[in-house]
Amino acid sequence: MKVTLLTYTPEPDRVVATAARLCYSPKQPGEIWAAFTQEEQKTFLEKLIVNGHESPFEHVSFTFAIEGVSRALSHQLVRHRIASYSQRSQRYVTEAGFNPVLPPSIAQSPSAKERFAQVIKSIQDGYTDLVKMGIPKEDARYLLPNACETQLVMSMNARSLLNFLELRCCRRAQWEIRDLAWRIRTQVRTVAPLLFAISGPTCLAKGYCREGAFSCGQPYEKEVD
Ligand SMILES: Cc1cc2nc3c(=O)[nH]c(=O)nc-3n(C[C@H](O)[C@H](O)[C@H](O)COP(=O)(O)OP(=O)(O)OC[C@H]3O[C@@H](n4cnc5c(N)ncnc54)[C@H](O)[C@@H]3O)c2cc1C
Repeated sequence: MKVTLLTYTPEPDRVVATAARLCYSPKQPGEIWAAFTQEEQKTFLEKLIVNGHESPFEHVSFTFAIEGVSRALSHQLVRHRIASYSQRSQRYVTEAGFNPVLPPSIAQSPSAKERFAQVIKSIQDGYTDLVKMGIPKEDARYLLPNACETQLVMSMNARSLLNFLELRCCRRAQWEIRDLAWRIRTQVRTVAPLLFAISGPTCLAKGYCREGAFSCGQPYEKEVD
Protein backbone atom coordinates (compact mmCIF):
# COMPACT_ATOMS: atom_id res chain seq x y z
CA MET A 1 0.00 0.00 0.00
CA LYS A 2 1.19 3.50 -0.79
CA VAL A 3 -0.54 6.59 0.62
CA THR A 4 0.47 10.07 -0.51
CA LEU A 5 -0.98 13.33 0.75
CA LEU A 6 -1.24 15.08 -2.61
CA THR A 7 -2.48 18.44 -1.40
CA TYR A 8 -4.39 20.13 1.42
CA THR A 9 -5.83 23.49 2.43
CA PRO A 10 -2.87 25.74 3.34
CA GLU A 11 -2.42 26.55 7.06
CA PRO A 12 -5.16 24.14 8.12
CA ASP A 13 -4.72 24.70 11.88
CA ARG A 14 -4.99 28.48 11.50
CA VAL A 15 -7.98 28.30 9.12
CA VAL A 16 -10.04 26.20 11.52
CA ALA A 17 -8.99 28.16 14.61
CA THR A 18 -9.84 31.47 12.90
CA ALA A 19 -13.22 30.27 11.67
CA ALA A 20 -14.16 28.98 15.11
CA ARG A 21 -12.80 32.03 16.98
CA LEU A 22 -14.90 34.30 14.77
CA CYS A 23 -18.05 32.81 16.30
CA TYR A 24 -17.14 34.27 19.70
CA SER A 25 -15.29 37.46 18.76
CA PRO A 26 -16.33 40.98 17.70
CA LYS A 27 -13.07 41.23 15.64
CA GLN A 28 -12.90 40.95 11.85
CA PRO A 29 -11.81 37.52 10.54
CA GLY A 30 -8.64 39.04 9.00
CA GLU A 31 -7.61 40.50 12.36
CA ILE A 32 -8.13 37.17 14.11
CA TRP A 33 -6.15 35.37 11.37
CA ALA A 34 -3.20 37.76 11.63
CA ALA A 35 -2.98 37.87 15.41
CA PHE A 36 -3.58 34.19 16.28
CA THR A 37 -0.43 32.74 17.87
CA GLN A 38 0.41 29.04 17.63
CA GLU A 39 -0.12 28.65 21.39
CA GLU A 40 -3.54 30.35 21.25
CA GLN A 41 -4.57 28.18 18.32
CA LYS A 42 -3.54 25.05 20.24
CA THR A 43 -5.56 25.95 23.34
CA PHE A 44 -8.56 26.98 21.29
CA LEU A 45 -8.59 23.90 19.02
CA GLU A 46 -8.27 21.55 22.01
CA LYS A 47 -11.37 23.17 23.51
CA LEU A 48 -13.29 22.70 20.25
CA ILE A 49 -12.46 19.01 20.09
CA VAL A 50 -13.22 18.34 23.75
CA ASN A 51 -16.54 20.26 23.53
CA GLY A 52 -17.49 18.57 20.26
CA HIS A 53 -17.73 21.88 18.36
CA GLU A 54 -16.51 20.24 15.17
CA SER A 55 -18.19 22.12 12.31
CA PRO A 56 -15.23 24.57 11.86
CA PHE A 57 -13.11 21.50 11.01
CA GLU A 58 -15.05 21.27 7.75
CA HIS A 59 -13.21 24.32 6.34
CA VAL A 60 -10.06 22.36 5.52
CA SER A 61 -9.64 19.43 3.20
CA PHE A 62 -6.94 16.84 2.51
CA THR A 63 -6.48 14.91 -0.75
CA PHE A 64 -4.72 11.54 -0.81
CA ALA A 65 -3.54 9.15 -3.52
CA ILE A 66 -4.18 5.63 -2.25
CA GLU A 67 -2.42 2.93 -4.25
CA GLY A 68 -2.10 -0.83 -4.04
CA VAL A 69 -5.07 -1.52 -1.79
CA SER A 70 -7.67 -4.24 -2.25
CA ARG A 71 -11.23 -3.90 -3.41
CA ALA A 72 -12.11 -5.28 0.06
CA LEU A 73 -10.57 -2.12 1.52
CA SER A 74 -12.09 0.28 -1.00
CA HIS A 75 -15.56 -1.12 -0.35
CA GLN A 76 -15.19 -0.28 3.34
CA LEU A 77 -13.58 3.08 2.61
CA VAL A 78 -16.39 4.42 0.45
CA ARG A 79 -18.87 3.74 3.26
CA HIS A 80 -17.43 6.98 4.68
CA ARG A 81 -19.93 9.21 2.88
CA ILE A 82 -18.54 12.60 3.87
CA ALA A 83 -15.70 12.49 1.35
CA SER A 84 -15.02 12.57 -2.39
CA TYR A 85 -13.60 9.58 -4.23
CA SER A 86 -12.29 8.74 -7.69
CA GLN A 87 -11.44 5.09 -8.23
CA ARG A 88 -9.89 3.28 -11.18
CA SER A 89 -12.73 1.82 -13.23
CA GLN A 90 -12.99 -1.90 -13.94
CA ARG A 91 -15.27 -1.01 -16.87
CA TYR A 92 -12.68 1.02 -18.74
CA VAL A 93 -9.33 -0.35 -17.53
CA THR A 94 -8.42 -3.98 -18.09
CA GLU A 95 -7.80 -6.17 -15.04
CA ALA A 96 -5.93 -8.83 -17.06
CA GLY A 97 -3.03 -9.93 -14.85
CA PHE A 98 -4.30 -7.87 -11.89
CA ASN A 99 -2.17 -7.74 -8.74
CA PRO A 100 -3.82 -9.44 -5.77
CA VAL A 101 -3.42 -8.05 -2.24
CA LEU A 102 -2.22 -10.92 -0.06
CA PRO A 103 -3.53 -10.86 3.54
CA PRO A 104 -0.78 -11.53 6.15
CA SER A 105 -2.67 -14.54 7.58
CA ILE A 106 -2.44 -16.22 4.17
CA ALA A 107 1.11 -15.00 3.48
CA GLN A 108 2.40 -16.70 6.63
CA SER A 109 0.98 -20.13 5.74
CA PRO A 110 2.81 -21.76 2.79
CA SER A 111 -0.11 -24.08 1.97
CA ALA A 112 -2.72 -21.27 2.20
CA LYS A 113 -0.48 -19.03 0.09
CA GLU A 114 -0.14 -21.70 -2.58
CA ARG A 115 -3.90 -22.31 -2.69
CA PHE A 116 -4.57 -18.56 -2.84
CA ALA A 117 -2.13 -18.19 -5.77
CA GLN A 118 -3.78 -21.10 -7.63
CA VAL A 119 -7.25 -19.57 -7.35
CA ILE A 120 -6.00 -16.10 -8.33
CA LYS A 121 -4.30 -17.58 -11.41
CA SER A 122 -7.49 -19.37 -12.35
CA ILE A 123 -9.50 -16.12 -12.01
CA GLN A 124 -6.91 -14.20 -14.07
CA ASP A 125 -7.09 -16.86 -16.80
CA GLY A 126 -10.89 -16.91 -16.73
CA TYR A 127 -11.07 -13.12 -16.97
CA THR A 128 -8.66 -13.06 -19.92
CA ASP A 129 -10.59 -15.86 -21.67
CA LEU A 130 -13.92 -14.03 -21.31
CA VAL A 131 -12.43 -10.79 -22.70
CA LYS A 132 -10.93 -12.74 -25.64
CA MET A 133 -14.43 -14.19 -26.28
CA GLY A 134 -15.66 -10.62 -26.72
CA ILE A 135 -17.28 -10.26 -23.29
CA PRO A 136 -17.10 -6.57 -22.26
CA LYS A 137 -14.73 -5.75 -19.39
CA GLU A 138 -17.70 -4.55 -17.34
CA ASP A 139 -19.09 -8.11 -17.41
CA ALA A 140 -15.82 -10.08 -17.28
CA ARG A 141 -15.08 -8.24 -14.01
CA TYR A 142 -17.82 -10.26 -12.28
CA LEU A 143 -15.14 -12.92 -11.83
CA LEU A 144 -12.77 -10.60 -9.99
CA PRO A 145 -12.06 -11.10 -6.27
CA ASN A 146 -11.95 -8.76 -3.27
CA ALA A 147 -8.16 -9.19 -3.38
CA CYS A 148 -7.95 -7.30 -6.68
CA GLU A 149 -5.68 -4.27 -6.27
CA THR A 150 -7.19 -0.83 -6.84
CA GLN A 151 -6.16 2.85 -6.79
CA LEU A 152 -8.12 5.85 -5.53
CA VAL A 153 -7.89 9.56 -4.99
CA MET A 154 -9.79 10.60 -1.87
CA SER A 155 -10.52 14.04 -0.44
CA MET A 156 -11.89 14.42 3.08
CA ASN A 157 -12.39 17.40 5.33
CA ALA A 158 -10.82 17.38 8.79
CA ARG A 159 -14.09 16.69 10.61
CA SER A 160 -14.77 13.61 8.52
CA LEU A 161 -11.13 12.54 8.87
CA LEU A 162 -11.42 12.68 12.67
CA ASN A 163 -14.44 10.37 12.46
CA PHE A 164 -12.63 8.09 9.97
CA LEU A 165 -9.53 7.87 12.19
CA GLU A 166 -11.62 7.19 15.29
CA LEU A 167 -13.40 4.27 13.59
CA ARG A 168 -10.64 2.83 11.45
CA CYS A 169 -7.49 3.21 13.59
CA CYS A 170 -9.30 1.09 16.19
CA ARG A 171 -8.04 -2.48 16.59
CA ARG A 172 -11.63 -3.61 15.92
CA ALA A 173 -11.29 -2.33 12.33
CA GLN A 174 -10.10 -4.74 9.63
CA TRP A 175 -6.28 -4.91 9.27
CA GLU A 176 -5.95 -3.34 5.80
CA ILE A 177 -8.16 -0.29 6.34
CA ARG A 178 -6.57 0.08 9.80
CA ASP A 179 -3.16 0.20 8.14
CA LEU A 180 -4.48 2.89 5.77
CA ALA A 181 -5.99 4.90 8.64
CA TRP A 182 -2.73 4.97 10.63
CA ARG A 183 -0.78 6.05 7.53
CA ILE A 184 -3.28 8.86 6.92
CA ARG A 185 -3.13 9.88 10.57
CA THR A 186 0.67 10.14 10.46
CA GLN A 187 0.54 12.33 7.35
CA VAL A 188 -2.17 14.73 8.50
CA ARG A 189 -0.48 15.16 11.88
CA THR A 190 2.63 16.34 10.05
CA VAL A 191 0.83 19.18 8.26
CA ALA A 192 -1.95 19.91 10.77
CA PRO A 193 -0.52 18.93 14.17
CA LEU A 194 -3.08 20.90 16.17
CA LEU A 195 -6.18 19.68 14.31
CA PHE A 196 -5.14 16.05 14.70
CA ALA A 197 -3.47 16.29 18.13
CA ILE A 198 -6.47 14.46 19.59
CA SER A 199 -7.19 11.85 16.90
CA GLY A 200 -7.28 8.12 16.36
CA PRO A 201 -9.07 5.41 18.34
CA THR A 202 -10.89 6.70 21.42
CA CYS A 203 -8.63 4.65 23.73
CA LEU A 204 -5.68 6.74 22.54
CA ALA A 205 -7.37 10.08 21.83
CA LYS A 206 -9.95 10.29 24.60
CA GLY A 207 -9.07 7.62 27.17
CA TYR A 208 -12.10 5.37 26.75
CA CYS A 209 -13.23 2.56 24.45
CA ARG A 210 -16.24 3.27 22.22
CA GLU A 211 -16.65 -0.44 21.47
CA GLY A 212 -18.03 -1.25 24.94
CA ALA A 213 -18.71 -5.00 25.24
CA PHE A 214 -16.88 -5.57 21.93
CA SER A 215 -13.67 -3.94 23.19
CA CYS A 216 -10.45 -5.63 22.07
CA GLY A 217 -9.11 -5.14 25.61
CA GLN A 218 -5.78 -3.85 24.27
CA PRO A 219 -5.90 -0.04 24.42
CA TYR A 220 -3.20 1.86 22.54
CA GLU A 221 -0.52 3.40 24.74
CA LYS A 222 -0.61 7.19 25.04
CA GLU A 223 1.81 8.74 22.54
CA VAL A 224 4.75 10.81 23.63
CA ASP A 225 4.96 13.58 21.01
C1 LIG B 1 -15.18 -1.93 13.14
C2 LIG B 1 -16.24 -1.64 12.11
C3 LIG B 1 -17.11 -2.64 11.71
C4 LIG B 1 -18.10 -2.38 10.75
N1 LIG B 1 -18.94 -3.39 10.39
C5 LIG B 1 -19.92 -3.15 9.49
C6 LIG B 1 -20.82 -4.17 9.09
O1 LIG B 1 -20.74 -5.29 9.55
N2 LIG B 1 -21.78 -3.87 8.16
C7 LIG B 1 -21.91 -2.61 7.63
O2 LIG B 1 -22.81 -2.39 6.81
N3 LIG B 1 -21.07 -1.64 7.98
C8 LIG B 1 -20.09 -1.85 8.88
N4 LIG B 1 -19.22 -0.86 9.22
C9 LIG B 1 -19.35 0.45 8.54
C10 LIG B 1 -20.03 1.49 9.45
O3 LIG B 1 -21.33 1.08 9.78
C11 LIG B 1 -20.09 2.86 8.73
O4 LIG B 1 -20.86 2.74 7.54
C12 LIG B 1 -18.74 3.36 8.33
O5 LIG B 1 -17.80 3.20 9.38
C13 LIG B 1 -18.84 4.86 7.98
O6 LIG B 1 -19.00 5.58 9.17
P1 LIG B 1 -19.89 6.91 9.22
O7 LIG B 1 -21.29 6.65 8.79
O8 LIG B 1 -19.70 7.47 10.62
O9 LIG B 1 -19.10 7.85 8.19
P2 LIG B 1 -19.73 8.94 7.13
O10 LIG B 1 -20.59 8.24 6.18
O11 LIG B 1 -18.53 9.64 6.63
O12 LIG B 1 -20.62 9.84 8.03
C14 LIG B 1 -20.00 10.71 8.99
C15 LIG B 1 -21.05 11.13 9.98
O13 LIG B 1 -22.02 11.95 9.33
C16 LIG B 1 -23.30 11.68 9.85
N5 LIG B 1 -24.14 11.16 8.75
C17 LIG B 1 -23.71 10.79 7.51
N6 LIG B 1 -24.76 10.41 6.77
C18 LIG B 1 -25.85 10.51 7.55
C19 LIG B 1 -27.21 10.22 7.36
N7 LIG B 1 -27.70 9.74 6.21
N8 LIG B 1 -28.06 10.45 8.37
C20 LIG B 1 -27.62 10.94 9.55
N9 LIG B 1 -26.33 11.20 9.83
C21 LIG B 1 -25.45 10.99 8.83
C22 LIG B 1 -23.13 10.66 10.97
O14 LIG B 1 -22.97 11.35 12.18
C23 LIG B 1 -21.83 9.98 10.61
O15 LIG B 1 -21.14 9.42 11.72
C24 LIG B 1 -18.23 -1.09 10.18
C25 LIG B 1 -17.34 -0.09 10.58
C26 LIG B 1 -16.35 -0.34 11.52
C27 LIG B 1 -15.41 0.76 11.93
